[in-house]
Amino acid sequence: MTKKSTIQDKMYSDIQDESIFTSAQTNGYNYLTEIFDRNVFPTEKALTDLTYFDEEMPEHSSNAHTVLEHLHTYGSPATVTNMGGRYFGFVCGSSVPVGLAAKNLATYWDQSPTMNVLSPIGSKLETVVENWLKNIFNLPKRTVAGFVSGTSMATFCGLAAARYRLLANQNWNINEDGFFNAPKIRVVTGKQAHSTVLKAISLLGFGKNTIEWVDVDNQGKIIPELIPELDNTTLLILQAGNVNSGSFDDFESICEKANKAGAWVHIDGAFGFWVGAVNQLKHLTKGAEKANSWAVDGHKTLNTPYDSGVVLCEDKEALMSALHMSGRYIITSKERDGTFYTPEMSRRARIVELWAILKYLGKSGVDEMILGMHKRAQQFANELKNENGFTILNDVVFNQILVRCNTDELTVKTLNRIQKLRTCWVGGSQWKGKQVIRISVCSWATTESDIVKSANSFKQALREVQKLTLIAK
Ligand SMILES: *Cc1c(COP(=O)(O)O)cnc(C)c1O
Repeated sequence: MTKKSTIQDKMYSDIQDESIFTSAQTNGYNYLTEIFDRNVFPTEKALTDLTYFDEEMPEHSSNAHTVLEHLHTYGSPATVTNMGGRYFGFVCGSSVPVGLAAKNLATYWDQSPTMNVLSPIGSKLETVVENWLKNIFNLPKRTVAGFVSGTSMATFCGLAAARYRLLANQNWNINEDGFFNAPKIRVVTGKQAHSTVLKAISLLGFGKNTIEWVDVDNQGKIIPELIPELDNTTLLILQAGNVNSGSFDDFESICEKANKAGAWVHIDGAFGFWVGAVNQLKHLTKGAEKANSWAVDGHKTLNTPYDSGVVLCEDKEALMSALHMSGRYIITSKERDGTFYTPEMSRRARIVELWAILKYLGKSGVDEMILGMHKRAQQFANELKNENGFTILNDVVFNQILVRCNTDELTVKTLNRIQKLRTCWVGGSQWKGKQVIRISVCSWATTESDIVKSANSFKQALREVQKLTLIAK
């Protein structure tokens, strides 16, 4: 007689109890409908209540309802509502509703698009979206895509492909022979490269000290004339969307030069590459199609749920070789086997949300949504520009705005006050050695009235800080 498995019985009965799933769904849905008006950052009480999670790993199993109630009661209030229209911190993005719902459905599927045989639907959607993305961004037909967790990983994959190719050009197989005695690869990038680019450079063993840095202009763009002589051992990393100013490197002229020299160009296009899908803005990425690899997010500008990024690479062999995966049990097919394009073997089928959102929006919807972010950003800048005490430091070419008060001290205090008011949320940064408030407009949900409310909160915060400073004097 087999021993009765109580936990197994319990889980079978959980599946029979529809209310476990419907109550989680209802709580989630109610949350979604309320957060657009909620305080953007959690209240002090919500933060204090997080101590309810501080406990030892339970000795015994508990009731599924209890687990979910606990999570909702203490978890939901302690979220940051980047889903709403007044979150402008970092560069985050909301989620297009249909994407959330599609993810919900796919949650029950729990697919891993590692191989076609593991998930025919995952494989199909990856194939379809790969084609759509090539088309939207006007990339060469031979381009392939890997669906990874974000731009950090996409850039890692792009640079790994570059490393493979640039060494193979010098008759060196990095996979077999490693990096210790390999011929040299030069790495050239701008002084405003994103920290995740530097992370990938370190992880791949290039070493940050070997970087040949190129000076940038007052918007953070690489100055093309200052790029050193390129050759076929050079990896050049450009940027579509500076994380502070939102600026774009001059791809047209730089890529042409790099192509002639046989250098590899990777573009970090985390949030910015999406302007390529917007008629009024696509001049900003002109020439970018001449690069060799590109990293772009789903979860920022396109507003897919986390975590979603894409590496695109015109050199399929280099990408596949760099990320190569082998094993006796690997079953390849004539269809797409996703694992050949990503570092992981197993991963979730994040393609489902990406597909659903692109299918739902269509080209005109993508264009309108992303142009809307640009327009709201311009509106925000205008609201503040006309107000004594605020200065806009960058050209608002896309969705990023750098704001400064008259001194570093006033800027930081005003920023802290804005965060305390909780009407909106913005973060700080440094721009040319000075403290700035950084605004990123990247939610589909941001309305003109959200911008007015948020700008008013900036003004109120500055007034309050100025008043306190006067009293202190
Ligand atoms: C956000 C960002 C990254 C990193 O992307 P993740 O998706 O967070 O890994 C890289 N580069 C730029 C310019 C970014 O804005």
